[in-house]
Amino acid sequence: MMDGTSGQVIKVSGPLVVAKGLAGARMYEMVRVGDLGLFGEIIEIRGGEYSIQTYEETEGIGPGQPVVRTGEPLSVELGPGLIRSIYDGIQRPLDALARDFGEYIVRGARRPALDRTRQWDFIPSVHVGDLVTGGDILGTVQETAIIVHKIMMPPGRSGIVKRISPVTGDVDTEVAVIEEKGSLLSVTMVQRWPVRDPRPVKRKMPPVQTMVTGQRIIDMFFPIVKGGTACVPGPFGSGKTVVQHQLAKWADAQIVVYVGCGERGNEMTDVLMEFPHLKDPATGEPLMERTVLLANTSNMPVAAREASVFTGIAIAEYFRDMGYSVALMADSTSRWAEAMREISGRLEEMPGEEGYPAYLGSRIAGFYERAGSVVCIGANDRRGAVSIIGAVSPPGGDLSEPVVQTTLRVVKVYWGLDDKLAFARHFPAVNWLSSYSLYQDTVDEDADKTVDTMWSVNRKRAMSILQKEAELDELVRLVGVDSLTTEDRLLMQAARMIREDFLHQNAFDDRDTYTSPRKQFLMLNLILRYYDEIRTGLSDGATLEALLNLNVIEEIVQAKLIPEDQLEQFDAIERDITNSIRALVW
Ligand code: ADP
Repeated sequence: MMDGTSGQVIKVSGPLVVAKGLAGARMYEMVRVGDLGLFGEIIEIRGGEYSIQTYEETEGIGPGQPVVRTGEPLSVELGPGLIRSIYDGIQRPLDALARDFGEYIVRGARRPALDRTRQWDFIPSVHVGDLVTGGDILGTVQETAIIVHKIMMPPGRSGIVKRISPVTGDVDTEVAVIEEKGSLLSVTMVQRWPVRDPRPVKRKMPPVQTMVTGQRIIDMFFPIVKGGTACVPGPFGSGKTVVQHQLAKWADAQIVVYVGCGERGNEMTDVLMEFPHLKDPATGEPLMERTVLLANTSNMPVAAREASVFTGIAIAEYFRDMGYSVALMADSTSRWAEAMREISGRLEEMPGEEGYPAYLGSRIAGFYERAGSVVCIGANDRRGAVSIIGAVSPPGGDLSEPVVQTTLRVVKVYWGLDDKLAFARHFPAVNWLSSYSLYQDTVDEDADKTVDTMWSVNRKRAMSILQKEAELDELVRLVGVDSLTTEDRLLMQAARMIREDFLHQNAFDDRDTYTSPRKQFLMLNLILRYYDEIRTGLSDGATLEALLNLNVIEEIVQAKLIPEDQLEQFDAIERDITNSIRALVW
């Protein structure tokens, strides 16, 4: 441990500080740098020199100033009080810092991650004499209106329960005493965990449960599952942040961890201002009752971005271990990659592609690999899941750049945002021709059973209409619209309706912002029904002109606004479609 070891700064280069005299310090150990005690992490040890990436601005730090070891790697504090918290990248509670130090966080300032003034009621779930091992649930605490926090035996520990009883107290209160190989282990409501190490699991399982997001293009065409991984690359302004916010609000995860990783401050402010007022459609409770936010403040240097990503995933894994389904959003992982590039450059490492370090790929893969559907450690084989959705913001929207390419190698879902669609104000600007989901078959099977037997049939048909439209578009460009047959014209009409009346979804409209799977099915089904009917109408002698201008089209356009509890209105529109086409033919 610390044994009073304190070294000295030799040089400072931006967020990188080189120190000596830290004998015994290990890679990734946290240190406090300079007279202000800035937080930093050792990331290279070479010939007695220790390179430290600092998580706070190094202005005023200079040679000769002290560097003090903490003996501990970058770790998170885990326990009741995480939910509803807003932290910076190294898990400092922003509200407590603002309260005690003012709006501009004083460098080196520290407040405990979990509020010590809050009281919790612990209710035991095991008895004296029970054998408990890592992951076993010793008892519970009602953390928010909707989340029961499970107090678990720390991983790797086991023993016989000697004392346990209901107790009310702060997180440091002893809740149980365990006899572990002859010595006594005092268990409180807090655990610490080194963020760079994945928390252990019993086994990983193939993720098979759909994660409904209420976003039509996602759920219907490029779905994600609980424990899955997705990335949202797109140029500036294409809607990455809106997609991430929509998922944080509407995805049916029990816990949401939102990491705002070095993005423009005002976007994070949106989240911070908006989230506390939003209600969860499933429970009617404020969304913050299930949310942990991590936001780097603009005065934190690049290295803090990496810390925030790892801090976020460690918190997500902790809730997974309780048996929850957790969704983590990271916006944007490109900022994190840029931080790696900057630090690597300052370390004078051999650069890889476009100046990114050679370990970019393994670092990004290591992060996404912490997602998954798992059997948690501990008794009862409870299941938990962490899903990761990362935004990527390649410079100039160039998808061939290394961060996008590296990410695509590891994630299973790709929602490609398209600047042309965004420019045309088609939102979400997810390109339906280039995006993909490797969970499609799994979700189809599920939705065919739980939503409608025609789900996957309709989806495939709709996608083939969109693909055909792209081919026809090409033809029109080459030889003009006259080259289209009447059937083609009908198809173009159906495709346009799929795009405008189904795929287009306004995140800022109260009714349109979320669509249940059942309603998604009905909306798409309506368009396909119309398409079938106009084709029949055409062969029965109706004119193209009349078929493309039916009044009932307006009802299809408005269908997205049908309230979720009045879905029977869809039947009426279907009847109107049939009747109005019959009226044309007879
Ligand atoms: P990025 O994070 O890619 O830079 P944003 O997520 O900030 O882009 O989106 C830019 C703008 O696009 C938003 O401010 C909003 O006006 C519009 N937008 C994006 N997605 C939607 C959506 N689903 N519905 C309505 N508007 C959207």
